[in-house]
Amino acid sequence: QHGGKVEANILLLGAENVGKSALTVRFLTRRFIGEYGDIESIYNHNDKIDGREISLNIWDSLYPQSCETTESISDKQLHWADGVILVYSICDRSSFDVVRQQVQLIRRTRKLSASAPIIIVGNKRDLQHQRAVSSEEGRLFALSADCGFFEISAAETYHGVLLVFHEILDLIKESRALK
Ligand code: GDP
Ligand code: MG
Repeated sequence: QHGGKVEANILLLGAENVGKSALTVRFLTRRFIGEYGDIESIYNHNDKIDGREISLNIWDSLYPQSCETTESISDKQLHWADGVILVYSICDRSSFDVVRQQVQLIRRTRKLSASAPIIIVGNKRDLQHQRAVSSEEGRLFALSADCGFFEISAAETYHGVLLVFHEILDLIKESRALK
């Protein structure tokens, strides 16, 4: 696929209310609209990066509410994904715990391709006064789990969101080149 179109499926995971939809919509439209509702959706985004056509499918998932659901990620989602973005809120410690559980689940079940990159994102960086997870803790956990790491504010800037998507795309391309 040298010089050709790059296609990639990117799955967003994480607890409820951490900004998965805000991140997705910010990437797709450059805007932050505030309220997103509980919609699960796969979006297609076509663009040109460094002169190369890209086609991204972004699955903005819903964290299951039901007590009957034992696992928070379906096999279908993991088989589908070429890369995963795990989001937590820096002001919600329980959402960081969810990310830790989801990383363990992904590694344990092996439904995600071993070469598929995972990036952990601490969102809501603008809410410093409510911070419940330090940058250090996030970064160290990501390092120990062999994941990428970013702290961003989907509310405040487009730039950080763009960096996250560019990084995962680069890692996906790298993993394919190694095959
Ligand atoms: P999701 O359930 O993970 O999809 O979360 P949403 O994208 O729906 O966002 C949940 C709430 O957090 C909404 O009220 C958003 O406006 C808000 N939110 C999302 N990102 C940020 C952020 O970076 N900073 C702040 N302050 N609020 C955010
Ligand atoms: Mg959402």
